[in-house]
Amino acid sequence: MTVSYEEALQKYEPVFGLETHVELGTRTKMFCGCITTFGAEPNTHTCPVCLGLPGSLPVINERAIEYTIRIGLALNCSIASWCRFARKNYFYPDMPKNFQISQYDEPLCTDGYLDVAIGGKTVRVGIERVHMEEDTGKSLHVGGATGRIQGAEYSLVDYNRAGIPLVEIVTKPVPGTGFLAPEVARAYVTELRDVLRTLGVSDVRMEEGSLRCDVNTSITLAGSGVWGTRTETKNVNSLRSVERAVRSEVARQAEVLDSGNRVIQETRHFHEDSGVTTSGRSKEEAQDYRYFPEPDLVPVAPASDWVEEIGKTLPELPSARRARLIESWSLSELEFEALRNAGALDAVEATVAAGASPADARKWWLGELARRANDAGIEVAELAITPADVARLSALVAAGTLNDRLARQVIEAVLDGEGTPDEVVAARGLAVVSDDSALTGAIDEAIAANPDVAARIRGGKPQAVGVLVGAVMKATRGQADAARVKDLILERLA
Ligand SMILES: [Zn+2]
Repeated sequence: MTVSYEEALQKYEPVFGLETHVELGTRTKMFCGCITTFGAEPNTHTCPVCLGLPGSLPVINERAIEYTIRIGLALNCSIASWCRFARKNYFYPDMPKNFQISQYDEPLCTDGYLDVAIGGKTVRVGIERVHMEEDTGKSLHVGGATGRIQGAEYSLVDYNRAGIPLVEIVTKPVPGTGFLAPEVARAYVTELRDVLRTLGVSDVRMEEGSLRCDVNTSITLAGSGVWGTRTETKNVNSLRSVERAVRSEVARQAEVLDSGNRVIQETRHFHEDSGVTTSGRSKEEAQDYRYFPEPDLVPVAPASDWVEEIGKTLPELPSARRARLIESWSLSELEFEALRNAGALDAVEATVAAGASPADARKWWLGELARRANDAGIEVAELAITPADVARLSALVAAGTLNDRLARQVIEAVLDGEGTPDEVVAARGLAVVSDDSALTGAIDEAIAANPDVAARIRGGKPQAVGVLVGAVMKATRGQADAARVKDLILERLA
């Protein structure tokens, strides 16, 4: 590509929108009693309804409706008092009925918003609709190099996923974010994922496909007010890819326009390895799907008192939690984002609840523990150390029993399964040596071994003391209080 994102932004304004598919975490499928567990043997969670056998009839999963209402309320949407499912007709091997039961012109939730915090400011992303549908099965193309149907020798279909409740959350177009558009898109999906996780309606695992994004992108000549033609990049399956897909599509469209051509309305595929999109098929229009109201299902008409009751059970949402923690821990927006991005919010909050100061809890979880999680390729929450352990560790440091270096040894031992911090300290005999008499011998040895350094200090160069402190710390295996050692050496050589 010859036009970079930065060059594109000098001339054009990006506009993006996101369609996010979320698999709901209900125990059973949308219209039958088959269970929804991920990773089962292919075609073992199926029945006549989700296989689309003639004569079978769907029944709506009430829990899926409840979950969708929870999502709608959390996204500040209006909840329809009456709506219907619709048939979306298309042929595809992983759609056994040859139509998908979805919602069309009567979605359950409409017209909401989600506030997204980014770089210390807030962007309000409008939500156009939240509607229900069923997931398709999964095709596996075997024998080709790419796993795509092109070049494959044969294809297999697994209908375990067919009929799993899906919710599609569609934003309004988001203009006016300028250079930050790719990051705002990513921040929106991150915030949405956190909301859905907090609501307990989905496990939101992008790597397992329970959260999937299609990214709509267009560009417009800056200041023209005329929106450009949009493209839809399908199945963008990580947060990082959301950002990269917007960035690469903006640059590509700028190149198309700069060379005097027109952007074509089409679906495009995002390539994880190269970070670019390639042309898929030209975009279908709604009429291609011949939508009509689903005749096998009754309308959905949630009673207003039921909706109200669901609203009362919503948990504290991420935006409210953010405001609360920023206030009570005296954080800047950026400090909060660092904690959230490290996945350490729950751990830090639990550590503070267990008695640590917010500053100490943040220090350990964002420092030593984040580093170890990163080395092990896991989330901080998966480390084999509890918030109570970290709180106890902070208390031991605050009391002077441990210094930071010893505390890091304790962390290592706790992670290795040697017990609680107190057990490790007792078993390994780890504690700061603060008894001056115990340090004297080591200090004498360090001075004797480094006569030239001692002479320099005596001669008025106290900054040379670091060498001697280092020698004493080494001799005491890090268990001495370095500041105290320094004072004692300087006293001795005064
Ligand atoms: Zn079934």
